[in-house]
Amino acid sequence: MNLGNSNMRDCPVCGVTDASMVMKFTPEQLCKINSSYSLEKFKRALVGLENRLYYSRCHNCGMIYCEKTWDKVTLNMIYDDVIDHSSSKDKISLVNKRLSLASMWLNILRVEKLFGRQKLDNFKIIDFGCGWGDLLDMVDGYGVSVMGYDEDSAKTESSVNSKHSIAANIAELKLFGPVDVVVMNSVLEHLQDVDKHMKTVKQLIKPDGLFVFAVTDYRAGFIKKNIRKLNKNCPALTKNLNPIEHVNIYNYNSAMASLERYAFDFVATGNVLRIANCFNLKNMSVVRIFNALERLSAKLLTRKEMYITVFAKNRK
Ligand SMILES: [Zn+2]
Repeated sequence: MNLGNSNMRDCPVCGVTDASMVMKFTPEQLCKINSSYSLEKFKRALVGLENRLYYSRCHNCGMIYCEKTWDKVTLNMIYDDVIDHSSSKDKISLVNKRLSLASMWLNILRVEKLFGRQKLDNFKIIDFGCGWGDLLDMVDGYGVSVMGYDEDSAKTESSVNSKHSIAANIAELKLFGPVDVVVMNSVLEHLQDVDKHMKTVKQLIKPDGLFVFAVTDYRAGFIKKNIRKLNKNCPALTKNLNPIEHVNIYNYNSAMASLERYAFDFVATGNVLRIANCFNLKNMSVVRIFNALERLSAKLLTRKEMYITVFAKNRK
């Protein structure tokens, strides 16, 4: 029998340990909405741990996260046995996936230009949580050197066969750094120890270098709707609300609070940079006006299952 690990986590955004349960799931509720999960395999991986399928809300900052850590045995069973990796790899060939990576690269270049860079010369990028290496494929080129890192060995073994450098550990990443840009694309949701990884990322980026991360943006209204559904024994509203794989549920405000905790200066979100790209904006003061409008809409509007991509400078 798998007893798991009952270690409690601090809030990944503010570091306080004071939270209470807000959303509880049954294995059936999670599997009904996730086509790559088999209910039979999922239940087998969770024997004795079914009552840990819940999220809590931090009393200090409002962040929604899993309070208890999952042990390695359970995580390996979920990531290696329950999830079908071939369907996950197939996703990198989707045109929409390529479009979102192209947009991220375009936005990185836009920020560099907004801050006065004219030329990519010895420009270094780390993709922290590089998965199958598809972002590395996108950005590699003359004047740019890239390195990837991923804790999921099934993915990095595949990436190792490609042309890119994949770090086997954090020490190798540090030897490659400090770099101009560190990207964490859909990684923070998965991390049990956000603090440890954020401190590492901070060390890898040059002073004034760029930190780019994308997370799902679940506003309070959507979370309330999901809680009502779960209470009526309906499946969750999205497969991304899953307290094993996504142990941290961010929104616009918690993403911004994370920047402050690790001394990064917010530049813009991907949404605002898309506008900057459309109008060929060359002036940060105009970008700041759009940032203020987005901050207001984050207070007023409920979004669901949308990604927020944040671009921030490492404070000197
Ligand atoms: Zn908190």
